[in-house]
Amino acid sequence: RLITPQNLPGGEDALERALRPKQLDEYVGQEKIRGQLEIFIQAARQRREALDHTLLFGPPGLGKTTLAHIIAREMGVNLRQTSGPVLERAGDLAALLTNLEAHDVLFIDEIHRLSPVVEEILYPAMEDYQIDIMIGEGPAARSVKLDLQPFTLVGATTRAGMLTNPLRDRFGIVARLEFYTAEELCRIVSRSATLLNAPIDPEGAMEIAKRSRGTPRIANRLLRRVRDYAEVKGSGTITKAMADAALSMLDVDGVGFDLMDRKLLEAILFKFGGGPVGLDNVAAAIGEERDTIEDVLEPYLIQQGYLQRTPRGRMATAMAYQHFGVAMPDNSR
Ligand code: ADP
Repeated sequence: RLITPQNLPGGEDALERALRPKQLDEYVGQEKIRGQLEIFIQAARQRREALDHTLLFGPPGLGKTTLAHIIAREMGVNLRQTSGPVLERAGDLAALLTNLEAHDVLFIDEIHRLSPVVEEILYPAMEDYQIDIMIGEGPAARSVKLDLQPFTLVGATTRAGMLTNPLRDRFGIVARLEFYTAEELCRIVSRSATLLNAPIDPEGAMEIAKRSRGTPRIANRLLRRVRDYAEVKGSGTITKAMADAALSMLDVDGVGFDLMDRKLLEAILFKFGGGPVGLDNVAAAIGEERDTIEDVLEPYLIQQGYLQRTPRGRMATAMAYQHFGVAMPDNSR
């Protein structure tokens, strides 16, 4: 699936890293966050302090990891990267924390998946730059306080609501990333095409942008597939017609929905009469995990107005009926 965040073949991962903007002024869109970070970073630098702990949340592929790297670079410090599920034991995190240099950035992806014991270590670390570790075993065991260098924790999560309150409260900066507009994605696609040495015309870039689900990672991925197509089936130049033919072949429709998006909407429309229907029923009907539906599929469909979350469950909107060319029943309001 095109929007799966993990499990890219090695070469694709390297390409993705190569396309990553390195500085704040190369980072397209997210004007509000960018403006705020610019000020907070400059202020921290002027005071020679670590930047406040920063929580970034939003669906996969919107640029959280990229932003964490940019923060470290703009602060002129190192970045250490890990993720919630990787940190199994308290000692794993303690080792990372005690190795940080002053003002370094520790980036924890999927921070909502930290185990409770590991999370406990983070509280004093974030608040007082201190950790408590146990030394020895049995009756001789004692707890020792270790001082840490002042550091910045940058946490990323798909949904802020999945964090425990004590953890969320310890972030001084909380930023929600938004889906990108077609114009912003068009700039990203054009920039990436230049980096990949792929000839593209403006209409070709716009066609890819419009069909990328508001997500830079998808835009870059579609660009690479369209480039393949244009090199084999055409002269190599990515035009609107080439983009359209390649994306249709990939089952990405005119508004950027792929097979899973359509499966989800079709299930709600045709199996559950337009809803309301509970998440578990939808998940069973389309054979997809609840979390994937909530984190990856739904946010864009809701933002675009095709789907509604109501207290009684998910409901298809008039736009969804229209998209599939069926009349909306009167009693579904
Ligand atoms: P996340 O961590 O939110 O899943 P990433 O930071 O890994 O997303 O971004 C995915 C890809 O999208 C990156 O490799 C980068 O090339 C591109 N990207 C993300 N945000 C931007 C942006 N604002 N401007 C340009 N490219 C971006």
